[in-house]
Amino acid sequence: QESKIKKPDWLRVKLPIGESYKHVRGLVDQHKLHTICESGNCPNMGECWGAGTATFMILGNVCTRSCGFCAVATGRPDAVDWDEPQRVAEAIHLMKVKHAVITSVDRDELKDGGSIIWHNTIKAVKQLNPDTTLETLIPDFKGKQEDIQRVIDAHPEVVSHNIETVERLTRQVRIQAKYWRSMEVISILKQGGMRTKSGIMMGLGEAKEEVFQTLRDLHNAGCDVVTIGQYLQPSKKHLPVQRFVHPDEFAEYREFGYSLGIDYVESGPLVRSSYHSERHVIPGYGK
Ligand code: SF4
Ligand code: SF4
Repeated sequence: QESKIKKPDWLRVKLPIGESYKHVRGLVDQHKLHTICESGNCPNMGECWGAGTATFMILGNVCTRSCGFCAVATGRPDAVDWDEPQRVAEAIHLMKVKHAVITSVDRDELKDGGSIIWHNTIKAVKQLNPDTTLETLIPDFKGKQEDIQRVIDAHPEVVSHNIETVERLTRQVRIQAKYWRSMEVISILKQGGMRTKSGIMMGLGEAKEEVFQTLRDLHNAGCDVVTIGQYLQPSKKHLPVQRFVHPDEFAEYREFGYSLGIDYVESGPLVRSSYHSERHVIPGYGK
């Protein structure tokens, strides 16, 4: 089903052009890496790649899950590529970025959920790039404590896990996930001493009060940073956009998040989980 409503002006973005963009493009291709920027058809590629940064997606580009909003392919993933951690580390080194973001597909078929590759990747990136801060956007690992602990043990500066939507819509939006299991993942990360982060998409049919409640739940789980952005339908096969949230409403959510005591809230139509991620490392940024 296609969204019937027209995209408002505030979602228009610049085309990706320029030297930095080409540089990032070349590095991603040469190192045979995947990015969520491309896999997710992100509208910010012009800005982020133009500024020399990208979000790498590890553990392949085929996911064992089939979330209704996500453009990543679902199916049987390839075998684990044990050299991938080193290639990610090298690409980040050549990008010369101060901050990098890594995410992954879900690998529910693996015994460790992919957590060993996650651990190795964080370690490899840190070893080759000791001054680069790192955000890792992780799956729920089906809530398995020892898998989550492998990420904690590698000490990334920020660990995010996206709740994506309000409790009522979770079954529809990410069928293999659970709202409270994801909240529990954030709690485990927080208890492990991590700076924690999560993201919510707007326009999937959520009511305002449900968004407020999700922000309360995230705060109670120990979430330090929250990103809130507009959902865009990647193809006709994906969930339709129910509405385009006005920038003023995004501002309201930001204010509400701050009133709860959340440390940093990034809220606006074009906000994506990894958008302005370098700011999310710094406690109290923007206050
Ligand atoms: Fe990539 Fe994130 Fe920037 Fe989008 S916002 S282009 S996913 S780094
Ligand atoms: Fe996409 Fe992540 Fe869902 Fe897989 S688990 S379909 S990569 S959002």
